[in-house]
Amino acid sequence: MDYKKILEDIYLEIRPYEKMGKQADYIPALAKVNPDQFGMCLESVSGEVYPFMQSDTRFSIQSITKVFALALVLSLKGEDLWKRVGKEPSGTAFNSLVQLEVERGIPRNPFINAGAIVLTDILLTELKDPDNEFITFVRALCGSDSVNYNMEVAVSEREKGYLNAAIANMLKYHGTIENDIEDVLMFYFKMCSVEMSCRELAKAFIPFTNISPFYYSGYKLTSSQIKRMNAIMQTCGFYDEAGEFSYLVGLPGKSGVGGGIVAIYPMRYAVAVWSPRLNSRGNSVMGIKALELLTTATQESIF
Ligand code: GLU
Repeated sequence: MDYKKILEDIYLEIRPYEKMGKQADYIPALAKVNPDQFGMCLESVSGEVYPFMQSDTRFSIQSITKVFALALVLSLKGEDLWKRVGKEPSGTAFNSLVQLEVERGIPRNPFINAGAIVLTDILLTELKDPDNEFITFVRALCGSDSVNYNMEVAVSEREKGYLNAAIANMLKYHGTIENDIEDVLMFYFKMCSVEMSCRELAKAFIPFTNISPFYYSGYKLTSSQIKRMNAIMQTCGFYDEAGEFSYLVGLPGKSGVGGGIVAIYPMRYAVAVWSPRLNSRGNSVMGIKALELLTTATQESIF
């Protein structure tokens, strides 16, 4: 498959969308990002890399970090996780409080904010040095030691993170989180603030294609656990647009409000795309379009 040419063709086709949507501005530090940027990178399980345009520019991975957090928690706690978080799509916005109240503090799934805040709480309890251990794990996955938190973004989100604070308070009220609310929120925002490029993200997701045994910085996952992580990405990776993404693209994946999306073609490749302008559901406009065109052109999807 000539992925290089396919990526070039895709870009020509999505150019009409380049001014659609706008970057996340509810996190003040992200409002400063130049919205007119685009990068993409596909890496195959055999190590062929197809970088395109700004594939080496780092950006805020935001909710994509929830996949790394879930991997760590599954490795540490296994099935016990599901006593505190569900695995059903939410059909609501990433930061919605509605279901959490009705469902008495058990988040629908680990990829909405409420669920990821529970993952964060578990990591704070289980890890001796959470800041270091989390970033070491991410660095091991992408093979780059310079990947790091961006404290300006984390602090800026903390200052305006009223909804996430409300979610954390509701979780604490129901006894779903154990640690101090402020500690949980700060570590959650730090994990979201990690900056990576499309090239680094594609590489970091290769282990989730389930091609070989998963063992990174001391953490193991079975292939059955990875299969299940992919199932959750498929059903819950795009908030209230998960069905639409599944329909258009047909691959498991995860988006973030920094404008990044990573998708997985199991046993074959991982592909990351980034463009900061988001649609009303918080997903990258050009990112979704690019992936839709990729699976249409290649006829490579899980369906
Ligand atoms: N840090 C963001 C928040 O909690 C992550 C949301 C996202 O990327 O979808 O609002």
